[in-house]
Amino acid sequence: MPDLEPCPVCSDTGWRLDENNNTVRRCDCSVEKSKLARIRAARIPARYEHCTLESYYPKHPSQEAARLLCEKFARDFHPQREGGILFIGACGVGKTHLAVAVLKELMEQGVRGLFYDFRDLLRDIQHSWNPVSQSSELEILQPVLEAELLVLDELGANKPTAWVQDTMTHIINSRYNDKRVTIFTSNFPDRTPEGRTEDPQIRREETLIDRVGQRLRSRLYEMCKVVKIEGEDFRMTVRQAGYRF
Ligand code: ADP
Repeated sequence: MPDLEPCPVCSDTGWRLDENNNTVRRCDCSVEKSKLARIRAARIPARYEHCTLESYYPKHPSQEAARLLCEKFARDFHPQREGGILFIGACGVGKTHLAVAVLKELMEQGVRGLFYDFRDLLRDIQHSWNPVSQSSELEILQPVLEAELLVLDELGANKPTAWVQDTMTHIINSRYNDKRVTIFTSNFPDRTPEGRTEDPQIRREETLIDRVGQRLRSRLYEMCKVVKIEGEDFRMTVRQAGYRF
């Protein structure tokens, strides 16, 4: 998101003269600036700052359905609503795009939102043990636990060690208990152990259960609408066609 141009009314002082009654008032640009500051503080990666529901072009019926669901989710949102979203699908189908689009839209309405790639979150928590970084684990975790809307991208991307499993469980259970709304994305296909096929190629594939465990998967189903998105990898098709060297 580019920085705002210097304000021609207040020259970025935040105050303007009201000539009608010769008083000083808050300049309207401060509203835009605080909106920008809030979006910056939400940690949305620069790569996804452009994402909106309007700039998501469905090419598969499941993408169309996912976009419609996001529109409804954003329209009906309130911080105490029951249920977030778990987007499941292969790389590049636009899971993060949709999650960010909803997050941005709701933040514009004043919702306290936060984006975290799960791998970065675990890394930041691990680094917070280091006294040199001068941040405590709680400093990292508190905003994650308290955000009114949290996007946790790439759930299950880390090797599921005992520590990863415990940390994931703590975050997800805390948000569940406090009725906080979360949007998750995961590249891992979701199949129950009984649902595994005999196809040896697919049998080799790791699933959501392998990465987050049976218990956490049930919890995710309890706290989220599971939305499976299919389609081609946007980066491999549309993006490639757009490069003209
Ligand atoms: P995923 O999270 O499913 O791996 P991303 O959301 O990261 O996919 O999408 C990769 C890139 O492709 C992003 O820049 C995103 O904005 C873009 N993209 C993906 N699908 C679409 C789509 N249907 N319409 C517009 N852009 C898309």
